[in-house]
Amino acid sequence: MKKLKIIFIMFFVFISTAVFSANVGREINSKCRQNLKLLNAGTEKLIKSTSCNLPKWCTYKQAIKDFLYPDKYLENKTIVGPTPDCEYYMVSNDKGEYEWLCYLHGVLEGDKTMSFRYHEHQLQGKTTSKFMTNEEYKKHVQSMLHWTEYTPTPKEFFIYHYNMNPIVTTVLSIFIVLLSIYLIKSFFNL
Ligand SMILES: [Zn+2]
Repeated sequence: MKKLKIIFIMFFVFISTAVFSANVGREINSKCRQNLKLLNAGTEKLIKSTSCNLPKWCTYKQAIKDFLYPDKYLENKTIVGPTPDCEYYMVSNDKGEYEWLCYLHGVLEGDKTMSFRYHEHQLQGKTTSKFMTNEEYKKHVQSMLHWTEYTPTPKEFFIYHYNMNPIVTTVLSIFIVLLSIYLIKSFFNL
């Protein structure tokens, strides 16, 4: 009877974790890309309706204050990044090419893609060689490269694996706990 209870509890845990599992990293990427699309679309609208010269490098705050008026050009009035490190900047070059970027995720379409661990999430970012002559853009690429060397804490490591594969992580964790109890007991001859 006791065994049956344990099996039932474990079954319940597996089902509930499977229901709540999600690839949070992918959701963050897609939310951030949505913001970049809005910013690029707004700038496209601005260029079509005015003869404004874009700055070489500009923060989101500065842009909405100086030229990219949210009421006029942006579909979404307040653009908020999905992580505290998602900060938006615009870069442009002499050829009139421009691109919005997130300091963590990079540009929307680039020629290089990098995958990196951001705390408990696995994220993807893109960089482009189009703006490598811009010093500010170069600094941003360096900052993205730093994230590829990020080592998650044990807690972040656990949350990441739990989010990606709750059943396997739960089974392994229960197994490790039981094994530790067994080893401690046998070591002290309890
Ligand atoms: Zn971002």
